[in-house]
Amino acid sequence: MQAVVIGGGVVGCLIARELSRFRIKVVLVEKLEDIGQGVTKANSAILHGGYDDPPGTLRARFCAPGNLMFDKLAEELKFPVKRTGSIVVAKDRNELPKLEELLQNGINNGVKDLRIVGKNELRELEPHISDEFNYALFCGTAGITEPWMVAIASAMNVAANGGEVVTGEEVIGGKINEGRVTEVFLSSGRKIEADLVINAAGLFYEKVASAFNVNVPPVHLRKGEYILLDKKASELVNMIIFPLPTAAGKGKLVVPTVDGGVLLGPTSVELPEFSPEDVSTTDSGLTSVRESGEYLIPGIDNAKWFIKSFAGLRPETVQKDFYIKRAEELANFITVGAMRSPGLTAAPAIAEFVVSMIVPETGIDLVRRDDFVPCLEERVKIKELPAGKVSEMIDENPAYGRIVCQCNEVSEAEIVQAIRDGARTIDGIKFRTRAGFGRCQGGFCSWNIAKILARELKKDLSEVRQNSEGSWIVDGKVRQ
Ligand SMILES: Cc1cc2nc3c(=O)[nH]c(=O)nc-3n(C[C@H](O)[C@H](O)[C@H](O)COP(=O)(O)OP(=O)(O)OC[C@H]3O[C@@H](n4cnc5c(N)ncnc54)[C@H](O)[C@@H]3O)c2cc1C
Repeated sequence: MQAVVIGGGVVGCLIARELSRFRIKVVLVEKLEDIGQGVTKANSAILHGGYDDPPGTLRARFCAPGNLMFDKLAEELKFPVKRTGSIVVAKDRNELPKLEELLQNGINNGVKDLRIVGKNELRELEPHISDEFNYALFCGTAGITEPWMVAIASAMNVAANGGEVVTGEEVIGGKINEGRVTEVFLSSGRKIEADLVINAAGLFYEKVASAFNVNVPPVHLRKGEYILLDKKASELVNMIIFPLPTAAGKGKLVVPTVDGGVLLGPTSVELPEFSPEDVSTTDSGLTSVRESGEYLIPGIDNAKWFIKSFAGLRPETVQKDFYIKRAEELANFITVGAMRSPGLTAAPAIAEFVVSMIVPETGIDLVRRDDFVPCLEERVKIKELPAGKVSEMIDENPAYGRIVCQCNEVSEAEIVQAIRDGARTIDGIKFRTRAGFGRCQGGFCSWNIAKILARELKKDLSEVRQNSEGSWIVDGKVRQ
């Protein structure tokens, strides 16, 4: 038996990994050059507590349990999770009922370690919070992660368990026989036999569904713009800080990142048309993000700390909820789409639900394997090791001593390992090792990383790309 999972974002990768526990060959297909480069790449990276998702929604059902699954998952797959905690801040007694509503909703949703704190405790938790705030809803289970690493590590684990991970190939349709998909067609012309098809194509779940003549709720896009701040800003921030939520969503936040930076944002703006390539940022969006940051933490709007702006797109439906369903039209085709926030947090619980509850609806009886290997080997991060250990590593392999990314202290040996793990582009290296993620955003190290990629992949430098087709770094030699 063979399952084809379409989409190498956090949702598709975790479903593919969950399927790998059973006696079914898993083929994970991602149209981009690398795993985790769609919505999974550009978001707030928060493991939400789950207190603000409306009752009765799939968001409410899967967020809190998904959050709690991250500790074991992170231990097995060796990606970082920091349980920073979060606060939703309120100014005065008029705003207190909103916090109480969130608290009650959180209790109903099964959220643990949730309570309202007064001014003194708020100041202890977050000493630089604006003096205007007197109350907060504290959530101890909230945390942060690197979403792309959740996807990349899950895909590596799929491969380690005998699955196949195909990148740079788009699913364009399939063969249908007696109401079931029997083959999935890729853009290269390859045809993959399929007993089960999971559509986890992110922003493109509607497009993929329609390629199989399956109806799903129409998707529209809502953009979120961010500013990434230098590590120096982290002196002002301990945890995830939310303003009071509004009808537009959770609001513009201040969020620490796992590698020591700080994010401001996101905005929440409906795009007038379906334009999934539009990840541009705007002057007005970034100004509003800065102002909101400053409103929460006075002093954080410091131009010297701005190192990058970016935007992510949320796949939305009028139902404002995830869409998880076996197709009426095709017995073995399941769509897991409309994965707006908290899709990252909910993803592990959704993966378990899809495999245990929805796959049986397709008529497939999955049998557990007894040889599934849940753990990945830890990848070395020189920066996180004590000096004595680093010198031992350098004695064994001098490439650990050649630091390529000065901002995040990433060595040549780590970059080579990332290439062995599947990185094929400069962004592939960046997302796996953090080289190029720091203050200079690759200004100093990209060139050396390109040379290492060319050397290890035995390519000409002109063939090395930043990420996708056409994003080359050098065009050719100017002098022989
Ligand atoms: C601004 C913003 C902030 C957010 N903040 C949070 C947060 O803090 N916490 C949280 O829990 N959630 C958050 N989310 C939601 C979370 O990021 C998403 O729910 C999650 O990343 C969705 O993952 P996915 O796998 O469904 O989509 P994707 O990551 O987009 O993966 C789908 C993949 O399918 C591929 N694909 C598409 N079509 C095809 C095809 N035909 N063939 C092959 N491959 C294909 C795409 O290239 C893509 O890589 C946020 C989202 C946004 C936009």
